[in-house]
Amino acid sequence: MDPKPHRELGCGCKREPVDQYLYHMRLSDETLLEIAKRFRKEMEKGLGATTHPTASVKMLPTFVRSTPDGTEHGEFLALDLGGTNFRVLWVRVTDNGLQKVEMESQIYAIPEDIMRGSGTQLFDHIAECLANFMDKLQIKDKKLPLGFTFSFPCLQTKLDESFLVSWTKGFKSSGVEGKDVVTLIRKAIQRRGDFDIDIVAVVNDTVGTMMTCGYDDQNCEIGLIVGTGSNACYMEEMRHIDTVEGDEGRMCINMEWGAFGDDGALDDIRTEFDQEIDMGSLNPGKQLFEKMISGMYMGELVRLILVKMAKEELLFGGKLSPELLATGHFETKDVSDIEGEKDGIQKAREILVRLGLDPTHEDCVATHRVCQIVSTRSASLCAATLAAVLWRIKENKGVDRLRSTVGVDGSVYKKHPHFAKRLHKTVRRLVPDCDVRFLRSEDGSGKGAAMVTAVAYRLADQHRA
Ligand code: BGC
Ligand code: MG
Repeated sequence: MDPKPHRELGCGCKREPVDQYLYHMRLSDETLLEIAKRFRKEMEKGLGATTHPTASVKMLPTFVRSTPDGTEHGEFLALDLGGTNFRVLWVRVTDNGLQKVEMESQIYAIPEDIMRGSGTQLFDHIAECLANFMDKLQIKDKKLPLGFTFSFPCLQTKLDESFLVSWTKGFKSSGVEGKDVVTLIRKAIQRRGDFDIDIVAVVNDTVGTMMTCGYDDQNCEIGLIVGTGSNACYMEEMRHIDTVEGDEGRMCINMEWGAFGDDGALDDIRTEFDQEIDMGSLNPGKQLFEKMISGMYMGELVRLILVKMAKEELLFGGKLSPELLATGHFETKDVSDIEGEKDGIQKAREILVRLGLDPTHEDCVATHRVCQIVSTRSASLCAATLAAVLWRIKENKGVDRLRSTVGVDGSVYKKHPHFAKRLHKTVRRLVPDCDVRFLRSEDGSGKGAAMVTAVAYRLADQHRA
């Protein structure tokens, strides 16, 4: 656990009561290695022809076989749906010597009633945002190639055909599951009839992240997202992917690790708070690992713990407030603020007061500690599954020491003050025979889709030549 908790708290206050209370959330390295082993089995299950149908970790082929080689070029559009923001992007890649990327982008809101309304509404809205963006850039008369970052589990049969398996995170738009999202966008654009585009690729955000980092570092073979949701992809040997024909080379696998535990594999480490989060979610019984880790749930986990501790008179003199009792009022951003370097305790006070409470100094210290334990568990669990991926790649390559790079993106990874550091340290401890480099992706989910499109264009060029 944290080696300098008292100094970080800036006082000599006791943290033991919270530590005892949340004993089940503090995972030892031994437990993490056990989880890594279990995940490793899940990976094999997802890849195997006979075991795939019942596997909870789906290990989905992406049809991305090659990372950028630096000769890609062209003008592309990209859509990014499924992260914190919905965005439309224009990207130009030029390859005169050193490859250069220019970019314009615009964030559009997706109102909650559209996220949870009908699929037609959702895709009409996406097409409308695209039209608005192209108007603004005065490119509506061009038929540009488009890459679509669609950050949900999808069954792909080729780069430009992608069937949504199930919605995750905050989305629950009807009539889309089981459908090809490329067809749905094309139809929405046809319904408008005021512009045309060429949809070339659908990519998961993890894949986009790996691709943008793969640009700066040829060793980049893993993409990781810890944001609203959590997931990772990596380059697997074709000969191990039973679900796609062919044995030559490698293909990127979108693991969909958020679904780890959906078959009960994590029941012994899930707490009553994890169960409560799941039961109150849009997709009960699904994405159980994601719900222990990602930004959509972290603040809410802390809130549930604070409520229970208050009910047991361990906090706030046993008093509750309507705000503390309301779902979503303790945000993941609050966790980051409270754990921020200098004024964590003061920040805790501000946030608790905002929630209508009258906290003592001890209440603030305890809240700070709850945040630390929840966010540390998240980093530790990510480290465990990442360790399994590194073992796997190392074995695939048959090397004694693996040198590998992980491209990372996501609001939790980038905005939480200690998450990245804790993740890196834990991975290095769990996998001492790997030299792991973590590379922050600059806008992986946006630029990444354009990159995949650019690579597809380069490969098509080579075939034509
Ligand atoms: C989705 C993944 C995605 C991850 C991060 C999960 O909920 O199922 O496809 O990569 O969130 O955005
Ligand atoms: Mg994103």
